[in-house]
Amino acid sequence: MAFSAWFQCIHGCNEHYPLTEIIYRCKRCGGLLEVVHDMNELKKNSPAEWKQIFDERYMRTTWPYGSSVWGKKELVCPVVDNENIVSMYEGGTNLFWARRFGEEIGLEDLWIKQCGNSHTGSFKDLGMTVLVSMVKQMIAEGKDIKAVACASTGDTSASLAAYCAAAGIQAVVFLPKDKVSHAQLIQPIANGALVLSLETDFDGCMAIVQKICEENNIYLANSMNSLRIEGQKTISIELAQQFDWELPDIVIIPGGNLGNVTALGKGFLMMYELGLIDRLPRIVCAQAERANPLYMSYLTGFKEYHPIQARQTLANAIQIGNPVSIEKATHILKAFNGIVEQATEDELANAAARADRTGLFNCPHTGVALAVLIKLINRKIIKSTDRAVVISTANGLKFPEFKINYHEGRLKDVAPEHINLPLVLPADLSDVKRTLREKIGY
Ligand SMILES: *Cc1c(COP(=O)(O)O)cnc(C)c1O
Ligand SMILES: [Zn+2]
Repeated sequence: MAFSAWFQCIHGCNEHYPLTEIIYRCKRCGGLLEVVHDMNELKKNSPAEWKQIFDERYMRTTWPYGSSVWGKKELVCPVVDNENIVSMYEGGTNLFWARRFGEEIGLEDLWIKQCGNSHTGSFKDLGMTVLVSMVKQMIAEGKDIKAVACASTGDTSASLAAYCAAAGIQAVVFLPKDKVSHAQLIQPIANGALVLSLETDFDGCMAIVQKICEENNIYLANSMNSLRIEGQKTISIELAQQFDWELPDIVIIPGGNLGNVTALGKGFLMMYELGLIDRLPRIVCAQAERANPLYMSYLTGFKEYHPIQARQTLANAIQIGNPVSIEKATHILKAFNGIVEQATEDELANAAARADRTGLFNCPHTGVALAVLIKLINRKIIKSTDRAVVISTANGLKFPEFKINYHEGRLKDVAPEHINLPLVLPADLSDVKRTLREKIGY
């Protein structure tokens, strides 16, 4: 079958461009592009046939289909040749029943999708494998691309650097100086990217990288490049697959630039259109109170939207005041009876730590989603019998300063409720015994 996909303007301009063209915006109206698939071709397989194909490939080793992104290649990016795919086995992340945490907060059927258990420790790998593969394809077809560049709050640059290194392509990353964690900074350094630390915030880096990429021999890897959305879309497809093609009632996801919430919705809509699922879940986008332009717009029923100056937040990957995917995300939230809710620094840090006590190890962005989950349960918007899924976006191990500072009580504007510090004792048996008696009744 001849599956095909192309870029198309989201404003319905009827402008189409091939996925191998270096283009990020509509030539007529300047609007964002999205990848559109030939759905008639895809519908030639029945839902049962697609499910069987995806299930047969899932987490096997037949390259490149063992990757859960490329296992859905026909729905993601059919135009790349398998020999140009740059993959490090994306997706297949654990989806587990967070039983104890759910019980504590009054929800029996709570699940966590650990998208941060991936090659570079965040869900960004799902999109980056598609983008870098397409760059390799374009280079193979003779395009003059010197490098791939992105502005980043940390995780995008780590992912871009790793995939470019795997492909032998130069990466250039623009980071806001002193606003990313050590772990986030060291990844692109280790992978040999050219790292430019600018004295500005994410939005400032974004403005510059867009100008640099206008020259066209440096390819832009930010999520205004809709190839990444196609890979991230597999979060919802994989979620359905892991639940044996049943759907949860509600999915909660943190949002900054709003590419991921867009991708989540797009994946569900595509499955719905193909008949793989017969209903849609409700989507909740969780924002940090200090970077909440979507939340402010939601309060007006999405009638108004104003970019804001994002303030510094522990959830640094979503510290974005002018999200590039605002229009797409608004469209998705309307289609999914969506909710937007926010979390303060205190709420996000305590929610992350509280859930850590039940065996998780949350990044601050997942903390935002967990705090919002608790709020919506308390308000009875999420019912105790609902099946809810929280999308955990990064691995907590990437944020050691956040964790340590929490337990040492050094986070600004956070009153830590779950501190646990090591007890320093002499190496003396009776001291140790007395302490154990006091602490755990030994
Ligand atoms: C990028 C990122 C987000 C936000 O995703 P958007 O697509 O920008 O909304 C959330 N959490 C983590 C850990 C991220 O890296
Ligand atoms: Zn247009």
